[in-house]
Amino acid sequence: MRFKLSTSMKYFDAHTHLNLPEFDSDWSEVALRAESVGVSFLNIGTDLINSAKAILIAKAYPNLAWACVGLHPQTKAIENEQDQLADLAKNKEVVAIGECGFDRLAEASEAEVLRQRELLTWQLDLALKLNKPVMIHCREAYSELLTVLIDRKKTASLPLINMHFFAGDWTIAQQFLELGCYLSFTGVLTFTHDYDEVVKNMPLDRLLAETDAPYVTPVPYRGKRNEPAYVVEVVKAMARIRGEDETKIAEHLYTNAIRFFGLNKLNF
Ligand SMILES: [Zn+2]
Repeated sequence: MRFKLSTSMKYFDAHTHLNLPEFDSDWSEVALRAESVGVSFLNIGTDLINSAKAILIAKAYPNLAWACVGLHPQTKAIENEQDQLADLAKNKEVVAIGECGFDRLAEASEAEVLRQRELLTWQLDLALKLNKPVMIHCREAYSELLTVLIDRKKTASLPLINMHFFAGDWTIAQQFLELGCYLSFTGVLTFTHDYDEVVKNMPLDRLLAETDAPYVTPVPYRGKRNEPAYVVEVVKAMARIRGEDETKIAEHLYTNAIRFFGLNKLNF
Protein backbone atom coordinates (compact mmCIF):
# COMPACT_ATOMS: atom_id res chain seq x y z
CA MET A 1 0.00 0.00 0.00
CA ARG A 2 1.24 3.50 -0.76
CA PHE A 3 1.86 5.68 2.23
CA LYS A 4 0.36 9.11 2.90
CA LEU A 5 2.24 12.38 3.18
CA SER A 6 3.66 12.45 6.69
CA THR A 7 6.76 13.57 8.52
CA SER A 8 8.25 10.16 7.77
CA MET A 9 8.90 11.46 4.23
CA LYS A 10 12.07 13.42 4.64
CA TYR A 11 12.77 14.73 1.17
CA PHE A 12 11.04 16.97 -1.31
CA ASP A 13 12.31 17.54 -4.86
CA ALA A 14 11.04 21.08 -5.49
CA HIS A 15 11.69 21.11 -9.24
CA THR A 16 11.59 18.08 -11.49
CA HIS A 17 10.20 17.13 -14.90
CA LEU A 18 8.73 13.62 -15.03
CA ASN A 19 6.27 15.33 -17.39
CA LEU A 20 8.96 15.57 -20.12
CA PRO A 21 9.38 13.04 -22.98
CA GLU A 22 12.54 11.60 -21.34
CA PHE A 23 10.21 9.90 -18.85
CA ASP A 24 7.38 8.95 -21.23
CA SER A 25 8.00 5.22 -20.97
CA ASP A 26 8.62 4.89 -17.22
CA TRP A 27 7.47 7.92 -15.19
CA SER A 28 5.36 5.67 -13.02
CA GLU A 29 8.34 3.49 -12.02
CA VAL A 30 10.45 6.60 -11.44
CA ALA A 31 7.74 8.05 -9.18
CA LEU A 32 7.56 4.85 -7.13
CA ARG A 33 11.35 4.71 -6.88
CA ALA A 34 11.26 8.21 -5.37
CA GLU A 35 8.53 7.17 -2.96
CA SER A 36 10.54 4.14 -1.84
CA VAL A 37 13.34 6.43 -0.57
CA GLY A 38 10.99 8.97 1.01
CA VAL A 39 11.07 11.57 -1.78
CA SER A 40 7.96 13.44 -2.84
CA PHE A 41 8.25 15.90 -5.70
CA LEU A 42 6.84 18.70 -7.83
CA ASN A 43 6.67 18.35 -11.62
CA ILE A 44 7.20 21.64 -13.41
CA GLY A 45 5.45 22.62 -16.62
CA THR A 46 7.22 24.60 -19.33
CA ASP A 47 4.32 24.67 -21.81
CA LEU A 48 0.61 23.90 -21.95
CA ILE A 49 1.00 20.22 -22.89
CA ASN A 50 3.56 19.23 -20.29
CA SER A 51 1.75 21.32 -17.64
CA ALA A 52 -1.30 19.14 -18.28
CA LYS A 53 0.93 16.07 -18.00
CA ALA A 54 2.22 17.30 -14.62
CA ILE A 55 -1.38 17.39 -13.38
CA LEU A 56 -2.04 13.92 -14.77
CA ILE A 57 0.96 12.52 -12.84
CA ALA A 58 -0.15 14.32 -9.67
CA LYS A 59 -3.64 12.82 -10.02
CA ALA A 60 -2.10 9.36 -10.45
CA TYR A 61 0.02 9.76 -7.30
CA PRO A 62 -1.74 12.00 -4.75
CA ASN A 63 0.42 13.01 -1.79
CA LEU A 64 3.54 11.97 -3.69
CA ALA A 65 3.52 14.16 -6.80
CA TRP A 66 2.24 17.72 -7.23
CA ALA A 67 2.04 19.98 -10.27
CA CYS A 68 3.37 23.41 -11.16
CA VAL A 69 1.93 24.81 -14.39
CA GLY A 70 3.48 27.54 -16.46
CA LEU A 71 5.03 28.90 -19.63
CA HIS A 72 8.84 28.91 -19.76
CA PRO A 73 10.35 32.14 -21.14
CA GLN A 74 11.40 30.26 -24.30
CA THR A 75 7.86 28.98 -24.88
CA LYS A 76 6.09 31.03 -27.52
CA ALA A 77 2.54 31.02 -26.21
CA ILE A 78 -0.41 32.45 -28.04
CA GLU A 79 -3.12 34.26 -26.12
CA ASN A 80 -5.53 31.37 -26.15
CA GLU A 81 -2.90 29.12 -24.56
CA GLN A 82 -2.59 31.54 -21.65
CA ASP A 83 -6.35 31.21 -21.06
CA GLN A 84 -6.04 27.43 -21.10
CA LEU A 85 -3.10 27.56 -18.71
CA ALA A 86 -5.11 29.74 -16.32
CA ASP A 87 -7.81 27.05 -16.40
CA LEU A 88 -5.29 24.28 -15.70
CA ALA A 89 -3.93 26.30 -12.77
CA LYS A 90 -7.28 25.93 -10.97
CA ASN A 91 -6.78 22.18 -10.48
CA LYS A 92 -6.26 21.29 -6.82
CA GLU A 93 -3.06 19.37 -7.67
CA VAL A 94 -1.49 22.63 -8.87
CA VAL A 95 0.49 24.14 -6.01
CA ALA A 96 2.60 26.69 -7.91
CA ILE A 97 2.83 28.69 -11.15
CA GLY A 98 5.85 28.44 -13.50
CA GLU A 99 8.43 27.90 -14.55
CA CYS A 100 8.46 31.44 -15.84
CA GLY A 101 11.04 34.19 -15.99
CA PHE A 102 13.88 35.33 -18.22
CA ASP A 103 16.23 33.36 -20.43
CA ARG A 104 19.42 34.83 -21.94
CA LEU A 105 18.16 38.38 -22.41
CA ALA A 106 21.61 39.59 -23.54
CA GLU A 107 21.17 37.68 -26.80
CA ALA A 108 17.53 38.71 -27.25
CA SER A 109 15.98 41.44 -29.38
CA GLU A 110 14.04 44.26 -27.75
CA ALA A 111 10.78 42.64 -28.86
CA GLU A 112 11.84 39.33 -27.32
CA VAL A 113 12.76 41.00 -24.02
CA LEU A 114 9.31 42.60 -23.98
CA ARG A 115 7.61 39.30 -24.81
CA GLN A 116 9.40 37.47 -22.00
CA ARG A 117 8.62 40.27 -19.55
CA GLU A 118 4.91 40.23 -20.42
CA LEU A 119 4.73 36.45 -20.12
CA LEU A 120 6.41 36.63 -16.70
CA THR A 121 4.20 39.48 -15.48
CA TRP A 122 1.10 37.61 -16.58
CA GLN A 123 2.16 34.58 -14.53
CA LEU A 124 2.99 36.71 -11.48
CA ASP A 125 -0.54 38.13 -11.73
CA LEU A 126 -2.05 34.67 -12.13
CA ALA A 127 -0.17 33.38 -9.07
CA LEU A 128 -1.37 36.31 -6.96
CA LYS A 129 -4.94 35.83 -8.12
CA LEU A 130 -4.85 32.12 -7.21
CA ASN A 131 -2.76 32.69 -4.07
CA LYS A 132 -0.03 30.29 -5.21
CA PRO A 133 3.76 30.68 -5.18
CA VAL A 134 5.86 31.13 -8.34
CA MET A 135 8.72 29.01 -9.71
CA ILE A 136 11.14 31.35 -11.45
CA HIS A 137 13.60 30.32 -14.16
CA CYS A 138 16.29 32.96 -14.68
CA ARG A 139 19.34 32.44 -16.86
CA GLU A 140 21.82 35.26 -17.38
CA ALA A 141 19.27 37.92 -16.45
CA TYR A 142 19.34 38.45 -12.68
CA SER A 143 19.63 42.25 -12.85
CA GLU A 144 16.70 42.50 -15.30
CA LEU A 145 14.61 40.22 -13.12
CA LEU A 146 15.44 42.15 -9.95
CA THR A 147 14.41 45.38 -11.72
CA VAL A 148 11.03 43.87 -12.63
CA LEU A 149 10.41 42.49 -9.12
CA ILE A 150 11.55 45.63 -7.27
CA ASP A 151 9.50 47.90 -9.56
CA ARG A 152 6.48 45.72 -9.13
CA LYS A 153 6.80 45.68 -5.35
CA LYS A 154 6.45 49.48 -5.35
CA THR A 155 2.97 49.36 -6.85
CA ALA A 156 1.62 45.83 -6.38
CA SER A 157 2.10 42.75 -4.25
CA LEU A 158 4.67 40.13 -5.05
CA PRO A 159 3.69 36.49 -4.85
CA LEU A 160 5.93 34.12 -2.92
CA ILE A 161 8.83 33.22 -5.25
CA ASN A 162 11.35 30.40 -5.54
CA MET A 163 14.46 31.08 -7.61
CA HIS A 164 14.95 27.69 -9.27
CA PHE A 165 18.52 26.51 -10.05
CA PHE A 166 19.97 29.59 -8.41
CA ALA A 167 23.32 30.42 -10.03
CA GLY A 168 24.14 33.88 -8.71
CA ASP A 169 26.67 34.95 -6.10
CA TRP A 170 25.97 35.93 -2.48
CA THR A 171 25.49 39.62 -3.35
CA ILE A 172 22.76 38.75 -5.86
CA ALA A 173 21.29 36.14 -3.53
CA GLN A 174 20.81 38.72 -0.78
CA GLN A 175 18.77 40.93 -3.10
CA PHE A 176 16.37 38.07 -3.81
CA LEU A 177 16.23 37.17 -0.12
CA GLU A 178 15.26 40.78 0.67
CA LEU A 179 12.27 40.33 -1.64
CA GLY A 180 11.20 37.31 0.43
CA CYS A 181 12.32 34.78 -2.20
CA TYR A 182 13.40 31.21 -1.53
CA LEU A 183 16.40 29.81 -3.46
CA SER A 184 16.73 26.22 -4.68
CA PHE A 185 19.85 24.33 -5.73
CA THR A 186 20.45 21.23 -7.84
CA GLY A 187 22.90 18.33 -8.07
CA VAL A 188 25.42 20.83 -9.43
CA LEU A 189 26.43 21.19 -5.76
CA THR A 190 27.89 17.68 -5.90
CA PHE A 191 30.47 18.51 -8.58
CA THR A 192 31.32 22.22 -8.29
CA HIS A 193 32.10 24.58 -5.42
CA ASP A 194 30.74 27.63 -7.28
CA TYR A 195 27.67 27.92 -5.02
CA ASP A 196 29.18 26.87 -1.69
CA GLU A 197 29.33 30.43 -0.36
CA VAL A 198 25.63 31.08 -1.06
CA VAL A 199 24.52 27.70 0.30
CA LYS A 200 26.60 28.26 3.44
CA ASN A 201 25.26 31.79 4.03
CA MET A 202 21.62 31.08 3.20
CA PRO A 203 19.07 31.32 6.00
CA LEU A 204 18.02 27.69 6.29
CA ASP A 205 14.35 28.69 6.22
CA ARG A 206 14.64 29.90 2.61
CA LEU A 207 16.49 26.95 1.13
CA LEU A 208 14.95 24.26 -1.12
CA ALA A 209 16.49 21.19 -2.78
CA GLU A 210 15.70 20.15 -6.35
CA THR A 211 16.95 17.77 -9.06
CA ASP A 212 15.75 19.53 -12.25
CA ALA A 213 15.59 15.96 -13.59
CA PRO A 214 16.23 14.73 -16.26
CA TYR A 215 19.08 17.30 -16.27
CA VAL A 216 22.16 17.87 -14.06
CA THR A 217 22.50 14.41 -12.49
CA PRO A 218 24.39 14.54 -9.16
CA VAL A 219 27.46 12.51 -8.21
CA PRO A 220 27.52 9.45 -7.92
CA TYR A 221 25.02 9.04 -10.76
CA ARG A 222 26.75 11.28 -13.36
CA GLY A 223 26.20 9.95 -16.87
CA LYS A 224 22.76 8.54 -16.03
CA ARG A 225 19.41 10.27 -16.47
CA ASN A 226 18.57 12.27 -13.34
CA GLU A 227 15.42 11.48 -11.30
CA PRO A 228 13.69 12.73 -8.11
CA ALA A 229 15.12 9.93 -5.90
CA TYR A 230 18.55 11.52 -6.38
CA VAL A 231 17.50 14.67 -4.51
CA VAL A 232 18.89 12.82 -1.50
CA GLU A 233 22.38 13.55 -2.91
CA VAL A 234 21.57 17.27 -3.19
CA VAL A 235 20.49 17.35 0.45
CA LYS A 236 23.67 15.50 1.47
CA ALA A 237 25.77 18.06 -0.42
CA MET A 238 23.96 20.93 1.32
CA ALA A 239 24.63 19.36 4.74
CA ARG A 240 28.32 18.87 3.87
CA ILE A 241 28.72 22.45 2.57
CA ARG A 242 27.01 23.94 5.61
CA GLY A 243 28.79 21.60 8.03
CA GLU A 244 25.46 20.61 9.54
CA ASP A 245 23.81 17.35 10.46
CA GLU A 246 22.26 15.65 7.43
CA THR A 247 19.08 14.55 9.21
CA LYS A 248 18.51 18.04 10.56
CA ILE A 249 19.00 19.60 7.11
CA ALA A 250 16.74 17.02 5.46
CA GLU A 251 13.93 17.67 7.94
CA HIS A 252 14.30 21.42 7.63
CA LEU A 253 14.28 21.37 3.83
CA TYR A 254 11.25 19.14 3.80
CA THR A 255 9.39 21.47 6.15
CA ASN A 256 10.41 24.44 3.99
CA ALA A 257 8.88 22.79 0.92
CA ILE A 258 5.64 21.91 2.71
CA ARG A 259 5.34 25.52 3.91
CA PHE A 260 6.40 27.15 0.62
CA PHE A 261 3.95 25.16 -1.52
CA GLY A 262 1.21 25.25 1.14
CA LEU A 263 0.95 21.43 1.14
CA ASN A 264 -0.08 21.35 4.79
CA LYS A 265 -3.30 23.17 3.84
CA LEU A 266 -4.26 20.69 1.13
CA ASN A 267 -6.69 17.92 1.69
CA PHE A 268 -6.59 15.00 -0.76
ZN1 LIG B 1 13.11 23.15 -15.01
